[in-house]
Amino acid sequence: AEFEQTDVAIIGAGPSGAAAANWLAQQGLQVKVLERSHFPRFSIGESLLPQCMEYLDFCGLLETATTGNFQRKNGAAFSWGEQYRDIDFSDKFSPGPATTWQVERSEFDHQLIRGAQASGVDVEFGSQVVGFEPDATEPVLQVQPENGDAYALKSRFVLDASGYGRVLARLCNLEKASRLESRCALFTHMRSVVDDENYDRKKILICIHPSIKGIWYWFIPFPENRFSVGVVGTPDQLALFGDDDTQRLQNTLLDEPRLAKYLKGATSLRDTSKLAGYSADVSALHGPGYALLGNAGEFLDPVFSSGVTIALKSAVLAAPLVHRQLQGETIDWPSEFEQPLRAGVNTFKAFVNAWYTNELPDIIFSDQDSVRIRQMISAVLAGYAWDSTNPLVSASERRLTKLAELCRA
Ligand code: FAD
Repeated sequence: AEFEQTDVAIIGAGPSGAAAANWLAQQGLQVKVLERSHFPRFSIGESLLPQCMEYLDFCGLLETATTGNFQRKNGAAFSWGEQYRDIDFSDKFSPGPATTWQVERSEFDHQLIRGAQASGVDVEFGSQVVGFEPDATEPVLQVQPENGDAYALKSRFVLDASGYGRVLARLCNLEKASRLESRCALFTHMRSVVDDENYDRKKILICIHPSIKGIWYWFIPFPENRFSVGVVGTPDQLALFGDDDTQRLQNTLLDEPRLAKYLKGATSLRDTSKLAGYSADVSALHGPGYALLGNAGEFLDPVFSSGVTIALKSAVLAAPLVHRQLQGETIDWPSEFEQPLRAGVNTFKAFVNAWYTNELPDIIFSDQDSVRIRQMISAVLAGYAWDSTNPLVSASERRLTKLAELCRA
């Protein structure tokens, strides 16, 4: 059979694929990215964390990202009924950048992949990966272009950056249920003029439903009075709010006084989207001749905007290992990739669990104000979930439970 060939084949041109591709191409490797859609394309996941600026920099894409028309972000604000707390990332336990952006992903992702193309990455849009034969040295992908015949692409290593496509998880039987409860998100983009001098557009706003436990909202500002607005709950909870998703989103928003005010007279800029059952896991993040990046591996929950940061971290960890492996070194993928990546993911997981048990809201809104503890929380919320010198990074679960008990007392 005839094969096309490349050094590294990457499935998906989202942030994790673009970042890994750019770094590897800059080392002189031949890289081919297969992307089933055409860019610019919509994606959810719009609020970044400061930690990811270091990852973009490492992969050589910070400069190209900086030219985008993005809203600066310096923290996170939380509101619950009358209560309001904001966390400024400049006051945090871990060193590193304290600001980032909130981005329309159609533009952000496009910019990153164009940066990779400028470094010599071959990106084939409109081509879907439909098959895979794992192999330690010559893995082969089956590619189906939208206009043309299927072909086989032989490479020396495959990175799966297919996000919710979860291509290799499906093709290699790695799928594993998430330990998180299945939730659902409804969201859209809106245009609104926020009439409140206290509104802080440099922060993502997370609101908790005034009476229904587990329902929360995001409110993310973009330039020119555009916003990303979404609500998360269990499917059963959200079903009570109307007959279709647009109604359900509108009605849940009316329940939240701050958002109802901010969105008075707002116009929708796109149809309401729904994503359900997005939390997912895999039994392993690597196998013979391949590794999984970003959402193609594990995805937790949107509440702390950790998705893109984790996706970029996976690229930062995997790309140098691929390079070393192709130079003939033996790589121990469990200890050099999976374990270090999962360490930070598990920190976020503890925070996500503490969010839904209400421990974290009780800590955030409490009057018990230890500056040191605020800084530790601020660092994790800024994405520094791999800084094991932060006491809330190691043993997060136990310490959050303890802390919540103290705050409630
Ligand atoms: P993606 O960005 O999803 O890219 C994958 C690419 O692969 C896509 O372009 C797709 O077209 C392509 N692809 C898929 N299948 C194939 C195939 N068979 N062949 C070829 N190409 C294929 N994260 C944040 O950081 N901040 C947030 O505020 C945030 N909010 C979120 C809100 C919700 C409701 C949800 C569900 C997630 C949110 N996330 C957020 C997570 C974020 O969306 C993802 O973590 C992030 O997009 C992952 O990037 P990625 O590079 O892994 O994959």
